[in-house]
Amino acid sequence: MSIDINKARAETPGCANVLHFNNAGAALMPAPVIDAIQSHIQLESEIGGYEARAAADEKYRGTYEAIARLLNCDASEIALVENATRAWDQVFYGMPFQEGDTVLTAQASYASNYLAMLHMGTRKRINIKVVPNDEHGQVSIERLEEAIDDSVRLIALTHVPTNSGLVNPAVEVGKVARKHGIPYLLDACQSVGQLPVDVQTIGCNFLSATGRKYLRGPRGTGFLYVRLDSIELLHPPVIDLHSATWTSRDEYEWQPGARRFENWESNVAGNIALGTAINYALEWGADEIWDRVRALGELLRAELAKIPELTVHDIGKEKGGIVTFSAQNKASNEIKTWLAALKMNVVTSTPEYARLDAEARNLPETVRASVHYYNTEEEIGRFVFAVRSFLGGS
Ligand SMILES: *Cc1c(COP(=O)(O)O)cnc(C)c1O
Repeated sequence: MSIDINKARAETPGCANVLHFNNAGAALMPAPVIDAIQSHIQLESEIGGYEARAAADEKYRGTYEAIARLLNCDASEIALVENATRAWDQVFYGMPFQEGDTVLTAQASYASNYLAMLHMGTRKRINIKVVPNDEHGQVSIERLEEAIDDSVRLIALTHVPTNSGLVNPAVEVGKVARKHGIPYLLDACQSVGQLPVDVQTIGCNFLSATGRKYLRGPRGTGFLYVRLDSIELLHPPVIDLHSATWTSRDEYEWQPGARRFENWESNVAGNIALGTAINYALEWGADEIWDRVRALGELLRAELAKIPELTVHDIGKEKGGIVTFSAQNKASNEIKTWLAALKMNVVTSTPEYARLDAEARNLPETVRASVHYYNTEEEIGRFVFAVRSFLGGS
């Protein structure tokens, strides 16, 4: 069944104000998500924050169930954290690395992840190896196989990068990881909510994601998946009275399951609303969302490619809803400013967000336009017209 666009837009108040092509930054929240946050804040103001948390316990637990349905895992394998970066960090900084160990990653690495690798690289004297892309621009499975030796302790892959249309072959990487028994950490920050992400099919041990992007949840929410049989591979890098229990003067016990990666204080309204956002997405259907996002991405890319003053920079055998481009005669931030005046939201993507890829492809600062299922063909038409008139007008 295809998505009822009119309904989707009617349930998205922001659609009345802006043409929103910044879904890879923060997508517009649908009405049920906004209601979920507001009503919990209201409850907190009426009866107190702790009391509201207790009253909303079933809803709060519902968020774990929603994520478990989304990813096809168990609710005990989920930790709610403040964003995708901290989720990813819990795993990366929790790995018992030793001098000489190797981490394999790919060209599409997100800046914060690679910064952590550099950080750990010097602290623990570990090696970071970047597996090159294949001819399509996705991580080369052949080169990944070749890069594996006894020193490899982790494969860390970005599923959908911040700066190009690419969808990396996460399932194929999972097969290699499993074959060699190497832990596999997937950054699914831009993929959850955009395309179906099933941790059983992918075979990752760990996965990190955020709430505000394609899932259309609130800002300041994120989650981590840790496969139950992989929990003991990690030493949580930080501890508090929620992640562990102080059992005797000199001893403590970690919480069972992935909750040991959480901390006590959390964004309760946000976490409840994240569950609402996920259930809302699942009602549309992950396959249905992906079909439409992919088609809109293709359309936008094809229409932009017709403008002679402009270059589309997307790569990959399979591409999603993130479209990046730059113009020969105008700076990307000028294009962004022009579009903003017309209430069209995009961001610019600078090389340091994904430096490995930007340097390998000699990318300038680009404009990133990211579509979601609630966007329309008509919006794409208006957007392309606006870009064309700006570039042609010089
Ligand atoms: C946005 C992004 C992140 C970081 O997510 P936060 O929620 O901001 O921490 C990580 N990886 C990729 C690929 C991203 O695009």
